[in-house]
Parts: sequence; C-alpha cells; structure tokens
Amino acid sequence: MLTRTWAGSFLLGSLPQGCEYCLYGAKLVLFITGLCDKSCWYCPLSFEKRGRDVVYANERPVRAIDDVIEEAEAQGAEGAGITGGNPLLVFDRVIEYLRGLKDYFGESFHIHLYTAVSRALTVEKVRTLEKIGLDELRIHLMLDNPQEWKIVEKIVGALSNMAVGVEIPVIPDLAEDIKKMIMFLDRVGVLFLNMNELEFSESNSFALKMRGYSLRKNSFSAVNGSHEAAMDIMEWAEINVKNLSIHYCPAFIKDSVQYKNRLIRTAKRVKKRHEVITDEGTLIKGVVIHSSLSLAELCKYIESIIGVSPYMDLSKNRVELHPELLEEISDKLKAIGCECYIVEELPTYGRRQVTQIAL
Ligand code: SF4
Repeated sequence: MLTRTWAGSFLLGSLPQGCEYCLYGAKLVLFITGLCDKSCWYCPLSFEKRGRDVVYANERPVRAIDDVIEEAEAQGAEGAGITGGNPLLVFDRVIEYLRGLKDYFGESFHIHLYTAVSRALTVEKVRTLEKIGLDELRIHLMLDNPQEWKIVEKIVGALSNMAVGVEIPVIPDLAEDIKKMIMFLDRVGVLFLNMNELEFSESNSFALKMRGYSLRKNSFSAVNGSHEAAMDIMEWAEINVKNLSIHYCPAFIKDSVQYKNRLIRTAKRVKKRHEVITDEGTLIKGVVIHSSLSLAELCKYIESIIGVSPYMDLSKNRVELHPELLEEISDKLKAIGCECYIVEELPTYGRRQVTQIAL
C-alpha cells in the first residue's frame, strides 16, 4: 500500500535503512572523491568537487580518518553514506574509511555506499565491502541503457547479507523507462529503489534547460514534472510490483527535514553555554568588538557589569555572550566605543555566519 513516511516522503513496502537514518539527520555524508568515470548530463556535483579527488565529511575537509570521526562525533552520527563521484575509483580509501568507522563506532554504525555501473563496479569489490561490513549498496543506473542493469542481478546473487538497492533521479521524460527498470529490479530480487525528485544545481542547470526543463513553481530547485512523474510511477507500482520496496523522496525533504535535523543534532552537541539553538538548528549569540581595547580588557569590563567572565573568541578576536544579556547591556558597551551584534551561525564545521544584526 502506498503510504507517507513521517517526514513526508512516499513509500511502497519498507523504508531502506539508510534513508531512515538520513531523514533523522543521523547520517554523516562522506564525500570520498569527486572523480567519476560516468558523465550523466544531469550530474548535480558542484564545480568545486566535480572531477577533483577531494574528501569531505559533511562540510569538513578531510585529510585522514580522524577528521571523519571528529565530524561524526560533532554530528552525533549513527551512520554514514559514502558518496562521490564514484567511490569505487578510490577503493583502497573506501576500505580504509569503512574499516576506520566500523572499528571506532562499532558494527551497528550503519554505512551505505553509492556507486554507478562502470568498470570499477565488480562482484569481487562488492564482496570485499560486504566482508568488511558495508550495510547497504546503492547503485545508480542509467535509465535508458538496460544493458547496464544486468550487473545488478549478478551482484544480488553474489551477496548474502548486504542490502542492495538502486537509486535514481526521476527524469520526467523517462517515466516509462523507469517502469521497465522497476519490473526488472523486482524480478531479480533487488531490495529497494530510491527515487529522488530531479533538481537543478549550479552545475546541471544549463543541461536541464537545454532539454526543456524548468523550475517547479514555489520551489528553489525541483524540476517541473518530476514530482508528478514520480507519483504516477508510485501509483502504477502499487498495482504492478510484487516485492521491491520503492521510496520516493521529494526535494523539499533535503532542506526542511534531513538537513534541518542534522543541524539540530549538531547544534545540541557543539553549542557553547552562551549560545541559543533556534528551531532551524542555527546558533544565536551576542558578539562584542572593540577596535582598541584588548580582549582581556574588554572581558574585564563586561565582567564588571554582569558579574561573570564572558567567552573570549581568540580566533575571531571578539567577545561573546548570551544574546539577551548583550541586549540588556549594549548601551553601556556602545558608550565606551564597542560594536555590538546579534549573530546567527550554522553549527557545522567552519561555523558559517548566516545573519548579523547590529544593536
Ligand atoms: S554517476 Fe553520479 S557523480 Fe558520476 S556523473 Fe553520474 S551523477 Fe555525477
């Protein structure tokens, strides 16, 4: 029966485990390389990452496994999604990080990996990943190339524990090809299909426009027609599919559920005492700057007013305190030449500033 998940996505059968963690914001995104041997015209990878052998754990640049673990701790992650590019092009790195995460967080730390069909995807490699403990494999298939689909049957037959699924964007003009693919996946025993609403990104917008696609009304990124095609497929599948679980994730879920939940989880873990978490998972605080007083002198003066020493941010050369407290004393501080602000930041690596209001 076609149902809606608590997050607002659409489901036939069971929700893939990787999606469950992801919706709760509990999955670390481990971008393991920007290298890829495919050239999908709708590829959403940013220009900074595409074709570059770079590694990121969420927003944090990674030099070694310790960076990944630190980021997972900051997020309170319960699992990771290894993505790219094509991770199998840096297979030794995948093994190192998969082992590192399982050793540190334990077997129950759920890890899924995305890959595309290419020479890098072999039954041997997938078996090795299963032995090391990969929980879920998600294969990206070209919809209009059924020859490519055959490897999925081989992989399903070769594995005993790992969940094997397929993940695709819903390209409106290829809805009939998706239905054919669904019949194939259902027949060969694939566990799930995850469909994402097709989205514009800075890097694919030209290719999408050239094919006549436009932005859906009231959306920042969703492609017009993709949602309708996905719903048509879901309703068709409800009647025609036997065992395959199908999950359709609309674009709005990425920001309003998944990303927001990740921010809230992270904010709860990294927040300093004077910072306040908003409903969106950002952090608000009061910031004081003085052009000639040293930080120590400024702290001493503020302490003389509020009775406790405020937080000194040496890296940003400023003093921080609870936003309400700053609002109460800002007149006194401005009288001695201070600049006072209420600042909103993301709790993620790098603490990007979102807004700044002068008092
Ligand atoms: S397989 Fe993925 S990363 Fe590679 S080109 Fe296609 S969409 Fe982009």
